[in-house]
Amino acid sequence: PSWARRGQPETPTPVAVAGGRQVKRTPGNAKGVPAKVDSWRTPKEKARVPTSIPEPPRYDGPDQELAAALQRDMLDASLGVTWNDIAGLSEAKTLLKENVILPLMIPNFFQGIRRPVKGVLMFGPPGTGKTMLAKAVATECNTTFFNVSASTLASKYRGESERMVRCLFEMARAMAPTTIFIDEIDSLCSSRGAQGEHEASRRVKTEILIQIDGIHSQEEGERKQVMVLAATNFPWDIDEALRRRLEKRIYIPLPGQPEREELLHINLKDVEVEPAVDFAELAKISEGYSGDDLTNVCRDAAMNGMRRLVAGKSPDEIKALRVEEVHSPVQMADFLQAFKRIKPSVSQNDMQRHEAYLKEFGSI
Ligand code: ADP
Repeated sequence: PSWARRGQPETPTPVAVAGGRQVKRTPGNAKGVPAKVDSWRTPKEKARVPTSIPEPPRYDGPDQELAAALQRDMLDASLGVTWNDIAGLSEAKTLLKENVILPLMIPNFFQGIRRPVKGVLMFGPPGTGKTMLAKAVATECNTTFFNVSASTLASKYRGESERMVRCLFEMARAMAPTTIFIDEIDSLCSSRGAQGEHEASRRVKTEILIQIDGIHSQEEGERKQVMVLAATNFPWDIDEALRRRLEKRIYIPLPGQPEREELLHINLKDVEVEPAVDFAELAKISEGYSGDDLTNVCRDAAMNGMRRLVAGKSPDEIKALRVEEVHSPVQMADFLQAFKRIKPSVSQNDMQRHEAYLKEFGSI
């Protein structure tokens, strides 16, 4: 592309953002590829990596402004999510490892009949960890991570969305290995909203299809390692053309009882909890709660101690409280009250629709 030259830039960037970390460009790590990724390469591949320090890709073509906006809005440098931060979802993690991480680690193996899938769709109720999984994938393979909200593409960049998509994929190829995460992908197929909006979304969607096909139509040796991951809470809104590109469709369900217990522990890892708090019991009574709902419950329960403490006190009395008093441990009663206040956000009806979709189109 005209704007993605590897020439001598006027404004060189000394580091590249990869997997949310800034990676120093060092010899043997010439493409800004972190050491971890570099160690996955075969000796033959390593030999191909130049030992001098080339300049990072620069974007200075007609779409430079757009590329800058993209970098500002979508290049996500705040990752740091690891598999261990995510409760349960072991099947989803395995599928992501096989379909996304391994092809990035050992691209030579994923050729011919073993070519990588064109794209991966994670579907399930909201707040179940889809975004966290995408971030963990990016952390795990140290790839540059573009976090794209499809609804923002269609609204904020209205009129420019197709160019934006083209620019995004060109940047992703120039900065490969890259993961593009498209959240709320259903919004590109939705027939809701005004007629004009619908038409704009349709054009963006067509551009995404063209770009996904573009990655995979390249010669195998030439193919850039760009992985497309998408997420939706409404998989039934996704039309056939897009569904066909998102070849692996991974169900991200509500947490079961053991996962809920794990989620409670993860959420409360930095607050003091009274020994009498029965985590197994809390996990039992929270059936139907999503991971996000449980985070809200824990936050509310953790606030309860403070509510108790400040009730009936004047501002001066509150200011005079000692730190030990403010940090009173969370009690079982705090959780029970929080469960009364915060109800599950996912309806039975939605769960049934997801399970029906899983049966018809899901991957296992
Ligand atoms: P989704 O993308 O599926 O709507 P997110 O990944 O954004 O959901 O999760 C929202 C929040 O819910 C997270 O920030 C986290 O606090 C919590 N959460 C949801 N699922 C999990 C999980 N499996 N493990 C740990 N935290 C989770």
